[in-house]
Amino acid sequence: YAPPEAFRDGWVRLPDDEAHHAVRVLRHRPGDEVIVVDGVGGWHRLRLELVDRQGVQGRVLETRRDVGEPPYRLTIGLALLKQTARFETFLEKAVELGVAAIVPLLTARTERTHFRPERARRLLIAAMKQCGRSRLPLLHAPRPFAEVLHDPAALRLLCHEQPDRPRHPIHELLRRPVGDALVLVGPEGGFTSDEVLQAEAAGFQTVSLGARRLRAETAALVAASAFLICQDH
Ligand code: SAM
Repeated sequence: YAPPEAFRDGWVRLPDDEAHHAVRVLRHRPGDEVIVVDGVGGWHRLRLELVDRQGVQGRVLETRRDVGEPPYRLTIGLALLKQTARFETFLEKAVELGVAAIVPLLTARTERTHFRPERARRLLIAAMKQCGRSRLPLLHAPRPFAEVLHDPAALRLLCHEQPDRPRHPIHELLRRPVGDALVLVGPEGGFTSDEVLQAEAAGFQTVSLGARRLRAETAALVAASAFLICQDH
């Protein structure tokens, strides 16, 4: 991975950690061809030409756009979870499932207000490289639920496990290409009924992910999987 600012005039200089990995772990030498993604949709085939103590540089031989990216733009708002490890599992798997942006939500029943953004970013980068994507999902700072309700998207869904509201099975809403979508998932204690009503008033559709009560991170990943299965082909 090399961010866009590492590219100049057909050359790229690898960031220090990637240069170290390329030379010390993968044992690359001048003349080797490698693939580098820039996190904003660029996939680049390079020939390494300078490998020394000053760093690693390569000449760009070929560039493609949006390799490994789905044909829709899915944002998932998942409430920050009590156990950071569960939220981090979600982050890694969300990248693999093609999620474009992640909003850590602060809801009435959210018990945590912080997460470790630097650690989260490292997880996202590792997952992007591992699964062959070219875009690094955008990770927002935590945002209040009521504010996110104003975010625009062609399809806006609130995942709700209680049968107290009329709910669509999620796949019924994914029969046609959606373009961009925003899906909200509540914390361990769920959304309050007031939050569900607020979301409906703001134009969100309430969706079910089946008859079982899923853990929040499972629910978010099931929603992302539904998009992948219904729309990514
Ligand atoms: N309120 C519940 C409780 O504590 O008994 C559980 C909330 S659930 C663990 C966390 C979130 O996952 C919910 O707010 C909802 O967004 C989502 N969720 C879980 N199971 C779901 C299902 N079957 N259908 C739709 N959403 C679900």
